[in-house]
Amino acid sequence: MATYKEFHQYSIEQPDAFWTEQAQLIDWKEPFTQVCDFSRPPFAKWFVGGKTNLCHNAIDRHAAKRPNDNALIFVSTETDEEKIYSFAELQTEVERMAAIYKSLGVKKGDRVLIYMPMIPQAAFAMFAAARIGAIHSVVFGGFASGSLATRIDDAKPALIVSSDAGMRGGKAVPYKHLLDEAIEIAEHKPNHVLMVDRGLDKGFNKVAGRDVDYATLREQHLNARVECEWLESSEPSYILYTSGTTGKPKGVQRDTGGYAVALASSLKHIYCGGEGETFFSTSDIGWVVGHSYIIYGPLIAGMATIMYEGTPLRPDPGIWWQIVEKYKVSVMFSAPTAARVLKKQDPAYMHKYDLSTLKHVFMAGEPLDQPTHEWFQNELGRPVIDNYWQTETGWPMLAALHGVEKTPIKFGSPSFPVYGYNLKIFREDGSECGANEKGIAAVIPPLPPGCLSTVWGQDDRFVSTYFTLFKEPLVYSSYDWAIKDDDGYFTILGRTDDVINVAGHRLGTREIEEAIQNHAAIAEVAVVGVEDKLKGQVPMAFAVVKDATRVATPELVKALEKEVFSTVDGILGAIGRPARVHFVTGLPKTRSGKMLRRSLQALAEGRDPGDLTTIEDPSTLEQIRNALAS
Ligand code: AMP
Repeated sequence: MATYKEFHQYSIEQPDAFWTEQAQLIDWKEPFTQVCDFSRPPFAKWFVGGKTNLCHNAIDRHAAKRPNDNALIFVSTETDEEKIYSFAELQTEVERMAAIYKSLGVKKGDRVLIYMPMIPQAAFAMFAAARIGAIHSVVFGGFASGSLATRIDDAKPALIVSSDAGMRGGKAVPYKHLLDEAIEIAEHKPNHVLMVDRGLDKGFNKVAGRDVDYATLREQHLNARVECEWLESSEPSYILYTSGTTGKPKGVQRDTGGYAVALASSLKHIYCGGEGETFFSTSDIGWVVGHSYIIYGPLIAGMATIMYEGTPLRPDPGIWWQIVEKYKVSVMFSAPTAARVLKKQDPAYMHKYDLSTLKHVFMAGEPLDQPTHEWFQNELGRPVIDNYWQTETGWPMLAALHGVEKTPIKFGSPSFPVYGYNLKIFREDGSECGANEKGIAAVIPPLPPGCLSTVWGQDDRFVSTYFTLFKEPLVYSSYDWAIKDDDGYFTILGRTDDVINVAGHRLGTREIEEAIQNHAAIAEVAVVGVEDKLKGQVPMAFAVVKDATRVATPELVKALEKEVFSTVDGILGAIGRPARVHFVTGLPKTRSGKMLRRSLQALAEGRDPGDLTTIEDPSTLEQIRNALAS
């Protein structure tokens, strides 16, 4: 048995041998002829010439052997529904959905945009696309029409699959009017919108000729058989948009074969889940964790996966543990914000249930602070494993590999670089940091299988965004500060750019600024991420109004702040709403006009604003202080 260090070293020094072994974990219709083609750095192609299919690996191959075993377990504490699909039943539903796609003219390579709540049909929609070689792009249901329109114009979907409404905290959250608005704003128009009618929003608008009803079409394709389309390993499986420093999100493009292998191997070596067990990830299909560890990963490994619609607190704070007991969950995956929410509840809710099947709990998406990590692991009595990764990578870059070696957990650390990632910490001049020295976490390419192959439609942006940190060496920049201790344990210290992380969700401050700027009263605005005990960070806005009379009294200030909130809600969704909008008459800038964001952030967090020798107008700082004190 290798140590994690030997395992990692083997993957870096002999990648062809290493990944050829890992590739045996999935089915190939045709074998690959080359493990990695890195002839055009930084672009890497994995398992060249191999033909496979994600849907086959996640569903069909298990349905053939274990048709009646649990595959998809849907639990909604919003509508009080529970439904279990066996592998055979899941395959049937996916084939029906795939037949509907074909009847609507969707072909291999076409994009299918999915804007849906956490319901089984959303999983069918993703698998059906993968089955026929269409490229899905799931947009988080919490995004509003502006965000959705940007994504429609970038992905240019032939078909959009949606639903009348989601549910949150017992209330229906209508989706369809947001989708109609987005299609109205977007230049690209989809041929069809396939609507899953949950009966939650009775009067939703139906556009004749464009909108079609899922239930009606499903009836017409009950006995449909749709074979899997065998894709060359590098052909795209999906696009997932993520925020960056510009206002325009990037479409992370994922391949097919490399992704399937990476997920299969991660289930074996990191998550330690196998056939017949159950995986419970509390994420959402709109995020990368949902793609990798609700939809594809567990099923590829032959596990059942839980799709949960609801909050951690309803009907009571024991709900997740009740699910663990009922479905004998062996691996759980959640986010630090959720742990911080649970920490505030009575621990009796956790101890009331039989959690004996649970091997360990994984946490990712944002820094897991030491006290929360310690509390959670002690309370649960089993390893809580912090793992660090990004939408771009699709699976962990830093984690403990308990499938290889049971290394001790250090609270506050996501442990070590994962096999396949030649990840190091660099100084700003491109040299490597020593132990206990803060630097930028970066990966020497090629990126391992499963990571983004490019930015959708923008190869140049892929190179310029991720691979231009230094002239030498060529590295993939994570845009995260990191530090490594004497024992080789890493800690992530936050972003190097203007991206903030709210409850594990990445938001670009530029996107929020652009949304706020849509309010007619706003002349200029700066948004920064401010530390928050529960959510890690929250956005805070400092805005200059065009007409001072709009903020002449405290009542007017409150009213304008409310208006700004609803502007953001309408464009980005409530997810992008700042915690506060402070109105000022000027923003702190350097003499060359650069916004002093770090100073703004420091002031908002009650810290020293730092070096201000280049500030244009020092009185702006006083205003910020006053606004924060008000
Ligand atoms: P996203 O692509 O939305 O998943 O966001 C990725 C970013 O979240 C990373 O670049 C980090 O800044 C942060 N992140 C994700 N996982 C962790 C973790 N385990 N510890 C610290 N930060 C994390």
